[in-house]
Amino acid sequence: MQPRSRRRFLQTCVAAAAPLCVACGEKERAAGPPADPPAHAKGPQPAAEPGAPPSAPFEPAYLKLHKSGELKKRGEDLWKRMKPCKLCPRTCGVDRLAGKKGFCDATSELVIASHHPHFGEERPLVGRGGSGTIFFSHCGLRCVFCINYEISLEGRGQRRSIEDLARMMLDLQRMGCHNINVVTPTHYSPHILLALDIAAAKGLRLPLVYNTCGWENMEVLKKLDGIVDIYLPDMKYASGEMAAKYSSCAPPDFERTRPDVAETCSSSETYPELTKMALLEMHRQVGVAKPAKDGLMYRGLMIRHLVMPNRVAGSKEVIEWIARNLPKDTYVNIMSQYTPMYKAFDYPEIARRITRQEYEEVVAAAKDAGLTNLDIQG
Ligand code: SF4
Repeated sequence: MQPRSRRRFLQTCVAAAAPLCVACGEKERAAGPPADPPAHAKGPQPAAEPGAPPSAPFEPAYLKLHKSGELKKRGEDLWKRMKPCKLCPRTCGVDRLAGKKGFCDATSELVIASHHPHFGEERPLVGRGGSGTIFFSHCGLRCVFCINYEISLEGRGQRRSIEDLARMMLDLQRMGCHNINVVTPTHYSPHILLALDIAAAKGLRLPLVYNTCGWENMEVLKKLDGIVDIYLPDMKYASGEMAAKYSSCAPPDFERTRPDVAETCSSSETYPELTKMALLEMHRQVGVAKPAKDGLMYRGLMIRHLVMPNRVAGSKEVIEWIARNLPKDTYVNIMSQYTPMYKAFDYPEIARRITRQEYEEVVAAAKDAGLTNLDIQG
């Protein structure tokens, strides 16, 4: 790391003036993404004309399946997986269509926290017009340190219809965003596919970015084949024990009020094993992520790994697994912005930001492992 970069890195580590979005690295209020677009999104919009599709000749993967009717059918198939719900690896088995809530705290009713152009995501997703992020409320993984806990764990957001979601996608395209970036999508994957089908009929032509914690059900993932253009998964942990410890933050009063679900839902101990399988499947579907000539990403797998204090994430093992099992030019964003939030202070070992040394040793491990397409902060 060059001296200037080092200084910038230290500033990033020490300055806790505002928390950073774990998912994206952008500074947000502790409350997570605001209901209104952030200040930077309100400034002058990019050159794209209102309503203009992205520059030719790009065609999103889902368009073909929309035209054949398959996109809607897959959305309907996933909808049925909410009764009993097995959309994510918790496999709670609750009937969400009857208004029941599983570990994620979501019923079949769609709840969305915000949608806006986002300028803090990876550069090839942001371009000049921003990434068109849609933040979904609730989450099936539920990390104790989640910086967006008010959205993911406390369910902040507004009830929306599938038609509303389709309108949001089209709004983001009109604003000049370069993609539709669905954040924490898994428990609402049926809604997303159905909305995408409506929006595609009305002219949506942006690539779909599936921005997930990585812990995915393989059958659901296979339903997304030919629909998702860019997978943006985390790979958070090498150890199931750590995943179970830090990513099982049950809703309040969960065991007392939903003893049946508490008994049947699965532990996140399977996180490393299932996420590895998910990454291989994502790579099979979309391949290596390489920016196009215009600098934007249109297709591929972009992995995020958040370095955590005291090596609890098992970063070296994560990186080495990626290097051994995926092409060496796989895009890997090694993220330095861990910030203790929410219940992280109940765990002394993760109640601080990371040190420069902790970050640099992961970067060194990635280089030693031969990874060549690294997104390094600092
Ligand atoms: S936690 Fe997963 S399996 Fe359980 S209800 Fe939510 S989406 Fe369904």
